[in-house]
Amino acid sequence: MKLSILKKIRVVLALFFFLLLSAVFIDFRGTFGETFYQWAVSLQFVPALMKTITVAGVVAWGLIAVLALTLLFGRVYCSAICPLGIMQDVVSWFSRKVKKKHRYKFRKAWTITRYSILGVLLLVVLFGGITLLTVLDPYSLFGRIASYLFKPIVVWLNNLGAAALSSADVYSILYQYDLAPVQLTVLGTTLLFFILVIVMSFNRGRLYCNSVCPVGTVLGFLSKYSLFKIELDHDTCTKCGKCMRVCKAECISIKTQTIDYSRCVACYNCIDTCPEDAAVYRISRKGRKEKPVELKPVDMMVAQPKGPQMSKRSFLFTAGAGMAAVAGLASVEKVQAAAVAQKDSTTVHTSNGGKIPENKQFAVSPPGSESIERFNDICTGCSLCVSACPSKVLQPSFLEYGLAGMLQPHMDFQAGLCNFDCTTCGEVCPTGAIKPLTVEQKHVTQIGKAHFIKANCIVETDGTDCGACSEHCPTKAVHMVPYGDLVIPEVTEDICVGCGACEHACPVTPHKAIYVDGNPEHLEAKKPETEKAKSDLKEDEFPF
Ligand code: SF4
Ligand code: SF4
Ligand code: SF4
Repeated sequence: MKLSILKKIRVVLALFFFLLLSAVFIDFRGTFGETFYQWAVSLQFVPALMKTITVAGVVAWGLIAVLALTLLFGRVYCSAICPLGIMQDVVSWFSRKVKKKHRYKFRKAWTITRYSILGVLLLVVLFGGITLLTVLDPYSLFGRIASYLFKPIVVWLNNLGAAALSSADVYSILYQYDLAPVQLTVLGTTLLFFILVIVMSFNRGRLYCNSVCPVGTVLGFLSKYSLFKIELDHDTCTKCGKCMRVCKAECISIKTQTIDYSRCVACYNCIDTCPEDAAVYRISRKGRKEKPVELKPVDMMVAQPKGPQMSKRSFLFTAGAGMAAVAGLASVEKVQAAAVAQKDSTTVHTSNGGKIPENKQFAVSPPGSESIERFNDICTGCSLCVSACPSKVLQPSFLEYGLAGMLQPHMDFQAGLCNFDCTTCGEVCPTGAIKPLTVEQKHVTQIGKAHFIKANCIVETDGTDCGACSEHCPTKAVHMVPYGDLVIPEVTEDICVGCGACEHACPVTPHKAIYVDGNPEHLEAKKPETEKAKSDLKEDEFPF
């Protein structure tokens, strides 16, 4: 099939942005670096909007660019820049290959649904938080899909390749990589939305974009006023309906020869398909009023799509079934956690310790987020920082911050520790939820404080030296003090930065002897004194 120049440009741009965004989230080897990440996501609508709202005096150029593009050319953001939109096009294309007779037809807009979702979302943002935006923002949703569903597959393939190459004594091309496990509830939520988007796009093209996506609703509204529009030339159009049958937005009414611009995602399929060249892209003719679009029998006269259709009822059913699946996963997770805890307590640790639970009042938010409340108000849970974090300590939360912070990253000191000199997350965060810090600022940013549970410590329970926490503490806020013939940890809270090195290193299970509790408001830590900064233990005295 001969492609129109417009469609060629659109396809090339769409492939470019899809591969770019996928690479950013899947880059497990850290090949591209922070500057590349920043640049790659700068045109994403919601992060650019959040940055404009939250960073004083900054209007993100990406926001201006997307709004200008929309007012000039319609929803080109949706057709060529949004990775979730492009993913739906890939699924639609695949569906048309599988279901040979799959054809679209004109359907009524889900206007009430889409504006209700947008309205509720804005109300929640005004009065409660951004959870709904976190869940529905297409960029963040794609980020989670790429990070938690696609990336493990790529890493698994990488590891297979690395194993094959190492058996041939080739070690320099690929190496084994371990991903930190993601909570099942986060995985389930991501999977639920992935399935929802896939099912909707497989059956109804861009239905998700035109019913659920808040960005689609906003840009759709603006598109009604765009300068350039696709129009059906009434003189040359023969009402054959070919354009309607390839319209993924199901927004071309042949009866009235009009297009619903709030739903048109500027894919240019109609221009490409029309045998009479009656679908033309031009400066919208002023004074020519669009007739209201109605569903009339003539719109239905084309071949009806076969196979399952996505009605509002089945959409709600799919969503409900998915929620039930997430709830199921949550309970499976609890059972697994209990099983692991039981296993740990009975088989792993040889000491008598680890019996007193840690008393964690607050989750720990990343350095640069300033406070949990501020972080919960801005972060859309895109997971870019999670992907970029070199130590894997940043992990997506489910309810660690409560509902207001669902899917936002928190510091998981089981998975890793926050490297003292690292400032990566602040450099990549596109919303401003994590502000960039210099290394000097990072060194005195206290995100939490270490707490010592003497009754769990090996020195107390087993009467033997340990010191793993102090050994790993970069500020020596945890240092060893005499304890009979041994030495035992002591914490100087005001120089602790809450990096979690001590908690991560502490070998006691099931409950650690030292743990970090989050600071709801981040504080400035005192600089460590040079004498304190030296370990009280000599390297060769370290017992492990
Ligand atoms: S409507 Fe939303 S998901 Fe669809 S392409 Fe636009 S921004 Fe992306
Ligand atoms: S500063 Fe800490 S949390 Fe942020 S990316 Fe670096 S190691 Fe990860
Ligand atoms: S803090 Fe992380 S998950 Fe949240 S918006 Fe920034 S990069 Fe995305």
